[in-house]
Amino acid sequence: MNTNAFALRHIGPREDDQKLMLKTIGVESLDQLIYETIPDDIRLKNGLNLDEPMTEYEYLLHIHELSKLNKAYKTYIGLGYHPNILPAVIQRNILENPGWYTAYTPYQAEISQGRLEALLNYQTMVMDLTGMEIANASLLDESTAAAEAMSLLFSVRTREQKKQNINKFFVSENILPQTLSLLQTRSTPIDIELVVGNEETFNFSSDFFGAILQYPGKDGQVTDIKTFISKANEAQIKVAVAADILSLVKLEAPGQFGADVVVGTTQRFGIPMGYGGPHAAYFATRETYKRDIPGRIIGVTKDTNGNRALRMALQTREQHIKRDKATSNICTAQVLLAVMASMYAVFHGPKGLKFIANKVHNTTSALAEALKTLGYNQVNNVFFDTLQIKTDSKKIKKLAKEKKVNLYYPNKETVTISINETTSVRDLNYLISIFAEAAEKETIAISTVSEGNNISETLKRTSEFLTLDVFNKYHSETELMRYIKLLERKDLALNHSMISLGSCTMKLNAASEMLPLSIFKWANIHPFVPKKQALGYLTVLKELEDQLTEITGFAATSLQPNSGAQGEYAGLMVIKAYHESLNQNHRNICLIPSSAHGTNPATAVMAGMKVIVTKSTAEGNIDVEDLREKAILHKDNLSCLMVTYPSTHGVYESAIKEITKIIHDNGGQVYMDGANMNAQVGLTNPGNIGADVCHLNLHKTFAIPHGGGGPGVGPICVAKQLVPFLPGNPVKKVGGEKAITAISAAPYGSALACLISYGYIKMLGAEGLTESTKIAILNANYIKQRLQGSFNTLYSGERGRAAHEMIIDCRPFKANGIEVTDIAKRLIDYGFHAPTVSFPVAGTLMIEPTESESKAEIDRFCDAMISIKKEIDQVSKDDENNVLKNAPHTLEMVTANEWYFPYSREDAAFPLDYVRDNKFWPSVRRVDDAYGDRNLICSCAPIEAYAEA
Ligand SMILES: *Cc1c(COP(=O)(O)O)cnc(C)c1O
Repeated sequence: MNTNAFALRHIGPREDDQKLMLKTIGVESLDQLIYETIPDDIRLKNGLNLDEPMTEYEYLLHIHELSKLNKAYKTYIGLGYHPNILPAVIQRNILENPGWYTAYTPYQAEISQGRLEALLNYQTMVMDLTGMEIANASLLDESTAAAEAMSLLFSVRTREQKKQNINKFFVSENILPQTLSLLQTRSTPIDIELVVGNEETFNFSSDFFGAILQYPGKDGQVTDIKTFISKANEAQIKVAVAADILSLVKLEAPGQFGADVVVGTTQRFGIPMGYGGPHAAYFATRETYKRDIPGRIIGVTKDTNGNRALRMALQTREQHIKRDKATSNICTAQVLLAVMASMYAVFHGPKGLKFIANKVHNTTSALAEALKTLGYNQVNNVFFDTLQIKTDSKKIKKLAKEKKVNLYYPNKETVTISINETTSVRDLNYLISIFAEAAEKETIAISTVSEGNNISETLKRTSEFLTLDVFNKYHSETELMRYIKLLERKDLALNHSMISLGSCTMKLNAASEMLPLSIFKWANIHPFVPKKQALGYLTVLKELEDQLTEITGFAATSLQPNSGAQGEYAGLMVIKAYHESLNQNHRNICLIPSSAHGTNPATAVMAGMKVIVTKSTAEGNIDVEDLREKAILHKDNLSCLMVTYPSTHGVYESAIKEITKIIHDNGGQVYMDGANMNAQVGLTNPGNIGADVCHLNLHKTFAIPHGGGGPGVGPICVAKQLVPFLPGNPVKKVGGEKAITAISAAPYGSALACLISYGYIKMLGAEGLTESTKIAILNANYIKQRLQGSFNTLYSGERGRAAHEMIIDCRPFKANGIEVTDIAKRLIDYGFHAPTVSFPVAGTLMIEPTESESKAEIDRFCDAMISIKKEIDQVSKDDENNVLKNAPHTLEMVTANEWYFPYSREDAAFPLDYVRDNKFWPSVRRVDDAYGDRNLICSCAPIEAYAEA
């Protein structure tokens, strides 16, 4: 046996453990368990056709070799992506630190105060720089954020505008090309009419409900948004501004001029370009629109003791509850990247940001001056960092290429150059020399860059920003390192204990999978460089597509969507395009089983479909007769079914093939939500069960870390008939022959994060992947068995087995006054993150251990659960002062001089022996959700602001 095989590092239970676990379950072998779990007729006959697995060492050599195929030329392309400097202290302590990157979305506020604080800093930074009243944390990329801005402005139209069905949205022709493409994708299904034009000649007619401007424009011109917004306001047209965050250091905040929404990317704040992503987008708006904001908002509240605590605010907006009425389908966002960008602002502070922005502007001004002297015609007179030059672009392009410099060439007579944080005086001279050579003139040597001034007085920033303490005290590395550690210590991540979140698949994010993200030639590639400079990326991305196509049993894959929910949207839009290609434009009914994840109905509505919910049986399966009835009833207009497999109830429904056939017989396509793919890989696949398209959550099944709520990668894999419609990009050709417009800003979405899944598959190989699936099922069934007698599992397959996850019923404990939340919070005292609470069934917990957890860890978790059950048995409805209701217990509480509780301090903090070894102390007591929503504060305002009046 090769004891260095990656599979042995990735999979938790050792061989001897597996035998014990199988015995507990009561089966002879792993194969017998799998036989009893997965219906025969959907089992794959052959194994996956993938390369032999590499060891970790082999993989690191391989990925280093491949990186050399990428050319990290000096890049001045701009268009929303800029080289920048990721401070090493942030790289080492956040990006490369499992304490940060393996955390989950901060639903359990008591063990998430660290990242919640970093995200509150992020919101504050965005609010300060944009001058807006409220901001979220965060969105997927600038272009999707712009599309969200359009939807928000559409839904907050005046009553009169709604009555008259005012549906025109003005888009500046100076918008980034990828953003225009996204706006096209997102406007059509919901009947918004885009009108693209020049903002200087726009006529502000009352047919328009909204407008969006690029600030500065893609040509570098800083448009006069002040005048535009004031005219628009008079005409009842609401304005969104897509603003470059670094430019806002020098340009007055759009909020000061009355903008309604400001969006953009924070990539420039220390986030590697990574061939397009992942990067966090920001979204800021007015307080009055707070209930329409997409994504997550962090708010301030208090805990049981009245101390300040943070939480995700306004959670009732989540798709989870509002489903087809949800504001958006944003679930996973880009939390880790938002955290990093916020730390960039903390590290540099207002002075540092001014220094950087000035340097960029001054360098650009010096370049403009030199080009003028060389006789070039530079067109944009007001600029921050980008110059547009009218010249023979072919000539410049040829020379620049020889000199290993990337500029942007929008057409034959135009060149644009965007200067960035990394541009030195030497780089500047090098750039000038290229233009001098093209002009056949002597170059101009610049020794120092002096102050430039190419911003008009009316647009110059005078308002202050980042005045709060947090942005003004961590400027030395020691201080920032300790601040990052201070926050990290408040958070429970996978480097502390198992996070058994059902449906979220919190498996190992191996160090070998993560290391390549720090390699220079992976991190520093602009998404729009010529393909020849990105051959490393293209090799990896193509192979990853092929691997996923093979794993899903389909014909092709698009890696573009940046999250599962975006994958859902991409899938439905592809289905829509397919129907349209057959002149079946009227097909708009989307059937969704009642147990589906809330993003499914939310997405269907965004795709312009009508949602019809189908019933579940008492056993938790899809009610096939109800489904058949509805499919037949709507057969003339049936677009598709969205189905999760195995079901969100943790069961491989044996009727799945019949279900997919019913849909096909009635003219529909089958969309499979692939969140549960960890229960399929190598054993069955969506192609095999009769689906036509599925998304995968690479941040669940394929080892990309959750990062505290993102990055995510949600590729779609499709059957043959859907291949021509895979999404494209307006700058780089990708996707099918009849590609739909863009789903994400970058051609390959979050390409840098894709390296992780590529490594995962490369190192596990067909056998390791299949083994992982089997062990995931083993681990789940072992938990089910161990908890028997203490907890009831709600649903099981026909032979009594769970899939890779299970739902345990906590509703009976209401008799003792105990809610499922009390169990979730008490688990913190035992050192565990709660499983998924109340999804898909209210009052339950959904547990998914994954294959990466060892028997020892699973045993600790089961011991904790059984011990909690004993505690439940001892409490009664009549006395709320008990160990469950008071959970979690903080260090401050158990060491206080006074102890008011009817149980011991030891029972509170060290309920089982193993806890002594590795105690996790929550930093706050239970947070008050209702109070936070009633008193919404989403910036790090000083203490007085949230002290109770
Ligand atoms: C996680 C999940 C989604 C959404 O994926 P995101 O990446 O968070 O957008 C959709 N469906 C199911 C069943 C999920 O578990």
